[in-house]
Amino acid sequence: MRLLRSTDLALRILMRLAVAAGATPTTRQVAADMDVPYTHAAKVVAELQHLGLVDARRGRGGGLTLTEQGRTASVGAVVRTFEGDGDVVDCEGTNPCPLIAGCRLRGALRRAQEAFFATLDPVKMSDIVADPTGGLLLSISRGPADDG
Ligand code: SF4
Repeated sequence: MRLLRSTDLALRILMRLAVAAGATPTTRQVAADMDVPYTHAAKVVAELQHLGLVDARRGRGGGLTLTEQGRTASVGAVVRTFEGDGDVVDCEGTNPCPLIAGCRLRGALRRAQEAFFATLDPVKMSDIVADPTGGLLLSISRGPADDG
């Protein structure tokens, strides 16, 4: 199972903010730290803000911070939200599969997908930013910038 790029970026942004220790990096800084286009990062930040996981303040002294909800969010919950509840295989697309009426594989894949999410449910942000990851996140973070 492969995660959407936006799911992985959402987790990376949350991880980056989890080690910010009082600093408030801008979206542009976080995008540079993660080596992703600003527009992509801005879209994901907007979604994280909408979900209540990140607080974004504009202007001088502004920037991004994790909310309490973001700090305690489980990796599984973030992944479920960004991935949506679609099946891992598209049985019904433009060319529906002829086995769809009674396919046992479909149910097995659904159970495997749920097991994947369930494995990530108990994993907290603090678990995935422990060293060595936390140290690496700090080492790649840029200095303050005045845009956002
Ligand atoms: S074989 Fe089953 S799981 Fe695969 S596409 Fe067809 S209905 Fe879906």
